[in-house]
Amino acid sequence: MEEKEVVPPRTPVEEELVGRVAWQIQLRWFAALGVLTATWFASSILDIQLPQWPLYTIGLSILLYNILFRLYLERRFSYPSRTKSSGYIYSALFRFHLKRLEREAPATAAIFDRFAKVQTSLDWLAMILLVHFSGGVESPLLFYFIFHLIIASILFSPLACYFFATLAAFAVGALATLEYGGLIPHISLGFISIPLYQNGLYIASLLFFFTTCLYISVYMATSVTLNLRQKDRELLRLQQRLSSAYQRIQTLYEVTKTVSSTLNLEEVLNLIAQSAVEAMQVKACTIRLLDESGQMVDTVAAYGLSEQYLTKGPIDVQKSLQTYQTLSSGQPVIISDTSRDDRLQYPAEAKAEGINSMLCVPLFIKGKAEGVICVYRIEPDHFSESDAQFLSALASEGAIAIENARTYQALEMADRAKSDFVQMVTHELRSPLSAVQSMLRVLEEGYVGPITSKQQDLIQRSQRRVSFLLALVKDLLELAAGKVEQLKGEKTEVVLNETITKVTELMQTSTEEKGLELKVEIAEEPLVLVGIEDGLERIFMNLLSNAVKYTPAGGSVVVRAWSEDGQIRIEISDTGIGIPEEALPRIFNEFYRAKNAKAMEMEGTGLGLAIAKDVVEQHGGQISVESVVGKGSTFYVNLPKG
Ligand code: ADP
Repeated sequence: MEEKEVVPPRTPVEEELVGRVAWQIQLRWFAALGVLTATWFASSILDIQLPQWPLYTIGLSILLYNILFRLYLERRFSYPSRTKSSGYIYSALFRFHLKRLEREAPATAAIFDRFAKVQTSLDWLAMILLVHFSGGVESPLLFYFIFHLIIASILFSPLACYFFATLAAFAVGALATLEYGGLIPHISLGFISIPLYQNGLYIASLLFFFTTCLYISVYMATSVTLNLRQKDRELLRLQQRLSSAYQRIQTLYEVTKTVSSTLNLEEVLNLIAQSAVEAMQVKACTIRLLDESGQMVDTVAAYGLSEQYLTKGPIDVQKSLQTYQTLSSGQPVIISDTSRDDRLQYPAEAKAEGINSMLCVPLFIKGKAEGVICVYRIEPDHFSESDAQFLSALASEGAIAIENARTYQALEMADRAKSDFVQMVTHELRSPLSAVQSMLRVLEEGYVGPITSKQQDLIQRSQRRVSFLLALVKDLLELAAGKVEQLKGEKTEVVLNETITKVTELMQTSTEEKGLELKVEIAEEPLVLVGIEDGLERIFMNLLSNAVKYTPAGGSVVVRAWSEDGQIRIEISDTGIGIPEEALPRIFNEFYRAKNAKAMEMEGTGLGLAIAKDVVEQHGGQISVESVVGKGSTFYVNLPKG
C-alpha cells in the first residue's frame, strides 16, 4: 500500500508572494532615491554631462507610482502602514495580516500576482528610460536588469520570468537600433569619448552577452526558487503528516485513559467511533460484534451515519464479504471504490449514504476475531497502511474495553447470585429462629412448669445467642436486598436535619445509660437530598450505634452535619477505642471486625459498616474514616445535595 500524499492548497512560498509585493514596494523607495541622488551626485559633484531633468523626472515618477502602489496595497488589502513601530512589530503585524488573507477568498493570491506584474512592467519601463537617458548601450545601468530579473524569479513563475527577460532583451535591442539609426537621439555620457552606440560589432556583442546573461540569470534564479518551493511543499506535507500523527497519538492516549477509567462499554465504544472519525478525518465509523450464532454482526457503536443507513437491515457475515474477510483473515481489508467492488452486502445503501471507500480491521477478543471496526470515506481510494495501523490500535483499545466490561458483568452476576443465595438462606432461617425465640420466652416465663435458676441462666444465654442470630439474619437480609434490587422504597426528598435528629433521639437512652456525652451540631439550613429515607436512617443508626458501642463510659460522641461545595457533610466522632491501623482498609468489608472491637464486644455481625457503605454509594456519596487507637474515631459521610 502506498502512502497517499495530501496536496496542500497553497504553499508558504506562494503565500509569501503576497509579502514580497510589499517588499518590492520597500525596495522601490531605495531605487527612486538612488536615481535622484545618483543624478545629483554625477552631475553636481562628478560634473558628468547628464540630461538631469529627464532623469529627475524618472526618479520622481518612480517615487510617485510607488506611493500609488502603496496606497492601493493599504486600501485594497488593509496592509498595515509602517509608523514608528519597530521592525519586529511590523513583521508580526504583517504575518498576522497574511494569516487573515489566507482565510479570505483564495483569489487574493491571484490578485497579488497581477499586482506584482503591473509593478514589474512599470519598473521595466522606468529602467529602459533610465538606460536611454544614461547613455543607451553605453549605460552602466544595463546591469540592473539582472537584479530585477532575480527579484522577478522570486515573485513569478519561470515562464513569466523568461518573458520578462525577453522583454528586456527586445527593449534594449530596440533602443540600440533606434539610437544607431538616429531615429531617437543618443545621450552621450561625458566620459566616453568613442561613440560606442555607432559601433555595430560592439552593439551586436553587447546584445548577445546581455541577452545570454539575462537568460542564464533567469535559469539559475528560477531553478533555485523552484527547488526551494518544492522543499517548502515537502516541508508542509511533512508538517501535515506530523500533526496528523500527533493528533492520532493524542487520540489513542485519550481513548486509553477512558478505557481504563470507565466500565461503561457503550460510552467507550462510542468514543472510539467518534475518535476514529475525527483523527482520521473520515466520514463515519462503525463497531460491530459477532452475535451468539456467529452468523450475524450487531452494530454496537456508530458515528457519522444516518439512521436510515444504520437501519438498512441485518448484516450477514456470509453476505457482507468485507466483514467475512476481515474476520477470517484477521487482517485489515480496504475497499478502494465501493461502486466497483462486489463485496458489499448493501451497495445501493452505501452509495446513497455517500460512502465510496472503506477500511475494516478485526477486533480481537482473547485472541479471537470477534468483531470489526470500519471507517468510511466519501472519497474513493483513500486509505493507507498507517490508517490501518491506527484503526487496529483503536480496535485493541475497544477489545480491552469489551473484555473489561464482560469480566465486570460476570463478576456482577456472581455477586448477584451470592446475594440471592444469602437472601434465600437467611429468609428461611428467620422463621425458625423467631419460633425458637418465642419458645424460649415461654420456657423462661414458666408456662410449661417451674424452672431452676440454673435452667433460667441457660435459657437466658440461649436467648442472647438467638437474638444475635436474628440480628445477623436481619443485617444479612438487608445487605443482600440492597445489592440485589438496590434499596427498597421510593426515592423522596429527605431533609437530613430531621433524619439525623430522629436517630440521635433514638440513641439518647443508650448513650445516657452508658454515661456518654452526646453532642449534636446540625446546620440551621435545611440539608435536603433525594433519597430513600429508611436507607439514610440506617447509615446514621449504624454509625452512631458503633460510636456508642465502641466508646467506654465517660467518653463523648459528637454528630455534625452541614453543607459545603454543593455537598452535605456529616461527621460522627467518638473518643472510643479507635481502629487499629492494619484494620482500617478492611473496616467496610462484610463480616470484618477489628481485634480490639471483638475483645470489647463479643457480639457483632461486622455487617453494619458494609451496609452503611452500600447505602451511601447508592445515594452517590462517599464514606471514609480516620482513627487512632485508644483516642477515638471519626466517620465522614459526603452526600450530594439535591
Ligand atoms: P460490628 O459493629 O457489628 O462489629 P460494623 O460493620 O458496624 O460491625 O463495624 C465493623 C468494625 O469496625 C467493628 O467491628 C469495629 O472493629 C470497627 N468500628 C466501627 N465503628 C467503630 C468505632 N466507632 N470505633 C471503633 N471501632 C469501630
